[in-house]
Amino acid sequence: MKKLFFIALVIFLYGCPPQSSRSVYLPDLPPPQMVKAPKNIILMIGDGMGLTQISAGMYRNGNKLNLENFPVIGLHKSYASNDLITDSAAGATAFACGIKTYNGAIGVNPDTVAVKTILEEAEENGLKTGLVATSTIVHATPASFIAHQKLRKMYEEIAADFLKTDIDFFLGGGKKFFDRREDERNLYEELRAKNYFISDYFTTDLKDIAIDYSKKFGYLTSDKDPLPVAQGRDYLIPASEMAIDYLDKVAVDTGFFLMIEGSQIDWGGHANESEYIITEMIEFDNAIGKVLEFAEKDGETLVIVTADHETGGYAINPGSSMDSIVSGFTSDYHTGTMIPVFAYGPGSELFGGIYENTAIYFKMKAAFGF
Ligand code: MG
Ligand code: ZN
Repeated sequence: MKKLFFIALVIFLYGCPPQSSRSVYLPDLPPPQMVKAPKNIILMIGDGMGLTQISAGMYRNGNKLNLENFPVIGLHKSYASNDLITDSAAGATAFACGIKTYNGAIGVNPDTVAVKTILEEAEENGLKTGLVATSTIVHATPASFIAHQKLRKMYEEIAADFLKTDIDFFLGGGKKFFDRREDERNLYEELRAKNYFISDYFTTDLKDIAIDYSKKFGYLTSDKDPLPVAQGRDYLIPASEMAIDYLDKVAVDTGFFLMIEGSQIDWGGHANESEYIITEMIEFDNAIGKVLEFAEKDGETLVIVTADHETGGYAINPGSSMDSIVSGFTSDYHTGTMIPVFAYGPGSELFGGIYENTAIYFKMKAAFGF
């Protein structure tokens, strides 16, 4: 009798056993539910950062990375609308706008029509916004969050698009695209007229800069891209700290959206230089550590770390040890492997699983609630 009751209970709880012993596909699962909405989102993009880049950085860094502190991990499919292998423009536009588009597109769809970005939507909803990059600020990744141009190389047009927004904080290279332009517009003057603090001077030490919190902040550290870490750059960590310090102060009542890019992991991949990749990867992870420190204290910040694509077909080959990687590369361009996504903080529940790169936009939007 007891046994019969037990069998009935099992059937009641779990339903009848399936005919075949094993099914190949899982049934559709309900979408994950968010426990608590975040006030701020910090999206960190390691350009060209696949699992091997992360692994190599981790081994070199004493077998530890700040990335290990993320409780939720997912994978995204990085392909573009016109190519299985994406570039950084289509890759970042997928995160920024939630659309698959063609390689080279900056914030526009396959018909070159502008699509609103998460940064612009955050601004419309009263949030403060920021962009930080280790490339020029008009380079494909940051550009895709603020500009709408049919080709990534249209740097001066992209710079002019900054004026069409009210972005609160931006920091990267690319000064010449703002103040020495073909069309002779001086965007520095135009930005100052819009209440930006924007300095004409280059400094290698960001700590020299006194921030005026009553103004918006723009700083371009050089005409071109900031140097690689291996050539003495100390930039992404102080830049990330500055951005967070600024936005946390000015966005007390509103919340903020900030994108921070470790731009040059990708360039190490293009150059097929393992050391370049590793030093950039470790710097990016150190910046992640600073962001996590803030998010932990703050308690209202969702941190997402991902990449647009992998670069180089980078491999850690036999003969490697933790501090001496024997590297291999299959390409000097990007590859099509799935890309990890790490999430921490309120709303992080949404980021587990396997999904398209465009889903990151919709998940951020759902987390913000607009
Ligand atoms: Mg980039
Ligand atoms: Zn690249």
